[in-house]
Amino acid sequence: TEFARLDEQAAGEGDGEEAALPQPVLAVVGRPNVGKSTLVNRIIGRREAVVQDVPGVTRDRVAYDALWNGRRFTVVDTGGWEPGVTGLQGSVAAQAEYAMSTSDAVLLVVDAAVGATAAEEAVAKVLRRSKKPVLLAANKVDDDRLLAETASLWTLGLGEPRPVSALHGRSSGDLLDAIVDALPEAPKDRDPSGGGPRRVALVGKPNVGKSSLLNKLTGEQRSVVDAVAGTTVDPVDSLVELDGQPWRFVDTAGLRKRVQTASGAEYYASLRTRTAIDAAEVVVVLLDASEPISEQDLRVLTMVVDAGRALVLAFNKWDLVDEDRRHQLDRELDRGLVRVPWAEKVNISALTGRSVRKLAPVLRTALASWDQRVPTGQLNGWLADLIAATPPPVRGGKQPKVLFATQAGIRPPTLVLFTTGFLEAGYRRFIERKFRERFGFEGSPVRINVRVRE
Ligand code: GDP
Ligand code: GDP
Repeated sequence: TEFARLDEQAAGEGDGEEAALPQPVLAVVGRPNVGKSTLVNRIIGRREAVVQDVPGVTRDRVAYDALWNGRRFTVVDTGGWEPGVTGLQGSVAAQAEYAMSTSDAVLLVVDAAVGATAAEEAVAKVLRRSKKPVLLAANKVDDDRLLAETASLWTLGLGEPRPVSALHGRSSGDLLDAIVDALPEAPKDRDPSGGGPRRVALVGKPNVGKSSLLNKLTGEQRSVVDAVAGTTVDPVDSLVELDGQPWRFVDTAGLRKRVQTASGAEYYASLRTRTAIDAAEVVVVLLDASEPISEQDLRVLTMVVDAGRALVLAFNKWDLVDEDRRHQLDRELDRGLVRVPWAEKVNISALTGRSVRKLAPVLRTALASWDQRVPTGQLNGWLADLIAATPPPVRGGKQPKVLFATQAGIRPPTLVLFTTGFLEAGYRRFIERKFRERFGFEGSPVRINVRVRE
């Protein structure tokens, strides 16, 4: 399986370890009426709003989020057989192949009262080749009477048949245990509070006003608490209370001491910027509103986007901005900030204290977006409509299909689209734009990964 990243974001990606791995996927296959939908509802605990009934949208595959014993995964209901020219055997095989290529584990559901039919023999033959784990559920075992039938499913060569009653829930916990055991570990979401105050970095080119802003913020404090209290070493971070909430401003030692390194100053400044960004959850990039946006400003912005951090743009020295400069700035923003139209923005003056109060609310908005997760069912309902209205452009004579999507991660929010072909960068940007129109995510980068089915 090819794993293509949004190319603009691929370069210089700092630490993608949390977002790189999508939530593991379980595909559910089986003949019609064996109880797949009932079992899927059982697995997801019916927690998600039902999105099946989007009028005019054919839905042959739907994905849902599931959570069991603290493990998140995505369940894909691969739908019924599609009886076509290839006949039943062919479509059975196709469904199994599809399931194997897009998932991390496959669950074959069999109706225990009916037993293994030719269709199950065919699908088992395909699944036995799978390098991915395969689980076998013998459904409709509402009581002990069908246990003997269950045992006969050993002949499918897919390991232990697991009796379950999707309707009544009998043994569904055991099946879920086996499912999460079979799936690869998903990256865990960090605790949203991070176990303490949210971490903020103040960055920007020299003389933009970082120290002044920090002093202003800490100056208005009744008490400033240092991160490493009671030690003789310089505290690296500053704890600051804004708007009734404590915030950790990271890597501020240099800012407060105003160290100037004589040689290699720029190199160290850039290193310091990178360190602060990496340590932060949300980054305030200070821009000098009285001067044109510079290359150096854009380099800092790129660092933040590549690191996948939430972003607030603070236009400082607003006290120096007159009418003319404001118009000029608008034009610069259109040109210079095309990559980050989603950033939160505030106009401030660290010198006079103007609008410095507005910082905390925008930090909160940006972080809420960074933490936001769209449930898989909702995401796919929206995506099905979008793609029906505007399908991906044809490439090399082929129309790539988007099969389904999940939001694989947060911090930053990361979508994974499962497709039958490569999606052009322009189309992925279109999806991102529409995604933001629908779901917001102001102040946070959003990554879109495409997983092309073999
Ligand atoms: P699908 O076509 O494979 O998705 O099957 P459905 O989930 O729509 O179920 C088909 C029929 O089987 C429905 O009437 C369900 O109520 C019934 N069914 C599903 N699971 C069970 C079960 O565990 N026991 C019994 N007795 N009936 C079930
Ligand atoms: P840093 O290098 O980013 O930490 O910048 P400083 O905080 O040291 O500020 C550089 C210079 O800009 C100092 O002379 C500040 O007084 C001045 N300055 C900072 N903020 C403002 C502001 O909002 N308005 C004006 N007019 N000057 C400012």
